[in-house]
Amino acid sequence: MSKKYLIIGAGFSGSVLANQLTKNCDCIIDIWDERNHIGGNCHTKRDEQTGIMVHEYGPHIFNTDKKEIWDFVNSFGEFRPYVHRVKAMSNGKIYSLPVNLHTINQLFGKSFTPAQAKDFLKTLANGSITQPQNFEEQALHFIGKELYHAFFYGYTKKQWGCEPTELPASILKRIPVRFNYDDNYHNNIFTGIPVDGYSSVIQKMLEHKNIHVTLNKKFNPGMNISGYDHVFYTGPLDAWFNYKHGRLGYRTVTFEKFYANGDFQGTAQMNYCDVDVPFTRITEHKHFTNWEQHDKTIYFKEFSKETEPSDIPYYPKRLEKDKVLLMQYRNDAQALQGVSFLGRLATYRYMDMHHVIGEALNFSNAFLHAIKAGNKPPVFSNTEE
Ligand code: UDP
Repeated sequence: MSKKYLIIGAGFSGSVLANQLTKNCDCIIDIWDERNHIGGNCHTKRDEQTGIMVHEYGPHIFNTDKKEIWDFVNSFGEFRPYVHRVKAMSNGKIYSLPVNLHTINQLFGKSFTPAQAKDFLKTLANGSITQPQNFEEQALHFIGKELYHAFFYGYTKKQWGCEPTELPASILKRIPVRFNYDDNYHNNIFTGIPVDGYSSVIQKMLEHKNIHVTLNKKFNPGMNISGYDHVFYTGPLDAWFNYKHGRLGYRTVTFEKFYANGDFQGTAQMNYCDVDVPFTRITEHKHFTNWEQHDKTIYFKEFSKETEPSDIPYYPKRLEKDKVLLMQYRNDAQALQGVSFLGRLATYRYMDMHHVIGEALNFSNAFLHAIKAGNKPPVFSNTEE
């Protein structure tokens, strides 16, 4: 007899899992999502006024260094080449990001070669920090205070709502520092944008007679889900437990929408690094699809704030107090039977799309192996260090 599974959340985690389970075992899957669309925060939709494909929850650029993940997403729709080249506004001037030879030469008014820039940065970097313990130390250790204050201090304070000394060094490690003129924001070799948007890719993943998606259906911890052989939860971990130990900290973002004729800023993303500019960045979405022609443009100012109970959680803060709560919830989850937790919100991690997809693929395999061997399936898609 077919197994009956419930997946809560129709973002990349839940959709990859549904796709893999229906491909590899005999099962019927219900997916519930509280929003009125699939795709979670990767949801894309054409703007009615301009026809431009809008990333409704902020810019998403697909990038991965794993060919199998690239091939996997491409099997659900065409991706066209797109290289993310971000510009930064700092103290009234525009610079190239991520920090590269051009940025260094621009900021210091120099014409350094790669070797000269490397030597120069060594003189700026704080040599007394040997093992950076937080975001600020990581920055001072590698790029010194001038670059840190021009591009990172203000932006980070706005984005995270706290001093960069309180944040983990891992947040800064997301962004490369280069001593050449390569201004690709990402290091990964496979990078692109889906021609029909991410929601179309996810829709294709979910096209199977045994997958049934119900939108506008919010999961509550009290609901009767005993009719399912297993439940896969991709929502916020603390919500599953009705916040009994308290709420995990998140930052949320809000957007102010604008229309204009032609081209507003000439690039998809401009970061505003000064602390006295209230928003963090402006994204102009027509630049994500430069194979399309649009006379008008739509752009968004992005603001960051603390997450209230009614807000959408975006960025897990993972401050020390959050990590204590996280461990309490993870311990509680380990004691449950018939439930697994996967994805950005259920594992409370800052993950990119390719991380989410890779982990959902691995988790699907591990789940299927465990079932076949008659073992308890993994409770989490990751281990917490
Ligand atoms: N960051 C910064 N200045 C910038 C861009 C990024 O200080 O101009 C910091 C900031 O703390 C941010 C982190 O680097 O949260 C990661 O940046 P990324 O662009 O990867 O953020 P995302 O696009 O995921 O919001």
